[in-house]
Formats: sequence, C-alpha cells, structure tokens
Amino acid sequence: MVLTRPYVGRFAPTPSGALHLGSLAAALASYLDAKSVAGKWLVRIEDLDPPRQIAEAADNILRTLEGFGFDWDDEVFWQSKRSDAYEVIISKLINNGLAYACSCSRKQLVNNVIYPNTCRDKLKSAKDAAIRVRTPNLEYQFEDRVQGLFIQKLAEEVGDFIIKRRDGLIAYQLAVVLDDAEQGINHVVRGADLLDSTPRQIYLQELLGFPMPNYLHIPTLVDSDGYKLSKSHCSPFITTNKASQLLVYALQILGQKVEKDLVLEPPLQILNWAISHWQSESIPKKRIVIIEDKFSITTVS
Ligand SMILES: [Zn+2]
Repeated sequence: MVLTRPYVGRFAPTPSGALHLGSLAAALASYLDAKSVAGKWLVRIEDLDPPRQIAEAADNILRTLEGFGFDWDDEVFWQSKRSDAYEVIISKLINNGLAYACSCSRKQLVNNVIYPNTCRDKLKSAKDAAIRVRTPNLEYQFEDRVQGLFIQKLAEEVGDFIIKRRDGLIAYQLAVVLDDAEQGINHVVRGADLLDSTPRQIYLQELLGFPMPNYLHIPTLVDSDGYKLSKSHCSPFITTNKASQLLVYALQILGQKVEKDLVLEPPLQILNWAISHWQSESIPKKRIVIIEDKFSITTVS
C-alpha cells in the first residue's frame, strides 16, 4: 500500500488592503481543493513590507474570511515574525557562492529587463547592497494542474534575481519558498499572475533541498479596463453582507456548476456544498478572466 502525505494547502494574502473578488476566488479555490480531500488549509499573512501595510488590514482580512465561512487549520502564520529565518538562509546562499551582493543603482539598471550580471563575480560586501541569486542556464518546468506544462529558461528569461532588496526587505520569491517549506505546504493554489514566478521558486526549492509542491494556478481576474483586481488598483473590496452572492459568483468564475437555489443558502452551507461538488478540472484554462459587472456585485448595500 502506498501512503501519500496528507494534503496541506494555504491562502496567503498580503495585508495591503481589504480582500477583493480576486482574492476571494483564490481563497475559495485553495480551500475547496484542500477540504475536498480532507486536507489542511492554512492561512499565511504575507506582511513582509511593513510600510505598505494598512493598519488593521490583516485583522480585517481574517474577519472577512470568517464572515465568508472559511475555517483555517492551525494558527495564522505571519511573515513578519520570520526575519531571522530568512537572514540565515541568505547568509548560507552567499557563503556557498549561490548568491551575491549587488550594488548597482536603479539608474544603472534602467535599460535592462534582465540583470546583466554586473556584480556576479565581484566580491562585494552585503552591506548597502541587494542580494541576488545566481540563475543557471537551464530550463525549469512544471505541470500545472490547470494551465498545463509551463517552461522557463531561467537565466535567459529572468536572470539573476533579487532575494533581498537594498533597503533590507526580503523578496517575495524567497519568503514564499521558505514559508511553504516551513508550513509543510504540498499544494499551492493561487492566481495565474504568479505562474511566471513559479520557476524561480522551484529553483530556490532545489537549491535549498525542499520538495516541490503541486501547483494549480486559477485565472487572474481583471476588470473591463484590463487591470488585475488588486488592492493597489483600488478594486472594490468585498464585504460579508453579500457573502452568499459573492461565493456563488466566485464558484461560477471557477467553472463550478452551481445549483440555481444555492445563492439562497448561508455561506457555510454554500461552502459545504462546494466541498462535496468541487471539480478542479472545470476551472477555466485561462490566464485571465474579465469581470464586467464588478461594481454591481461588490457594492456595499
Ligand atoms: Zn549589480
């Protein structure tokens, strides 16, 4: 008999504002994918960037999730408490020659989409410098459960990328890899805007000896002007007073065949229905989905 590890998934919002429909779809997809196989669903607050955090935004996100009927396992995980762990790994990568200090100014790099490796072989102090990880001249690929095979030539298409910014902030790419490993995440369900980042994360997992999780990228929701629904674009935030309508709408966006009267049920019943009817194969194989009626569905009544 083959014993497989139990499913551990997560939802990892950045507390830079209230949840919008795009984050609800990501929360819902990751929740249903975990709960439909009796897995664990963890919540991680990606509060790496303190100056941009809006006061109480994290609490607001957690309360909104509760209002929609989501029930997370274990304690909420906070990236802001992980600085020491990130620094240990950065030092290790530098000491092993896998990462290096880059003191190029923004001005010096302005014409380069891909970093020209200026500082790669210079021995520089890590003080007042960004830290970049060396990328190998190799193809990185993975089979996404919805989007299919995704291949990226890391050195050619991305180049040596930053894992710690000059101002001391830890880069998302590194934090996400370390935290997924720390939390034992083996299934990552998130928006397709992160598809391009995945090979970088797979490379870091390989460098650090972590197992690669299974990936599922749902379409990114964009408004009719083509902007991603996001906190920075001031997309209308969702409130729990329309929880049932929003949940059913998000299920439809995720390609689920929703019964007509489901919208009349309270959020918890909708989630329970969705857990037992979840079909990840029905998620549209698209990078983006345009949301036309964002205002009518998300306005506060
Ligand atoms: Zn440099």
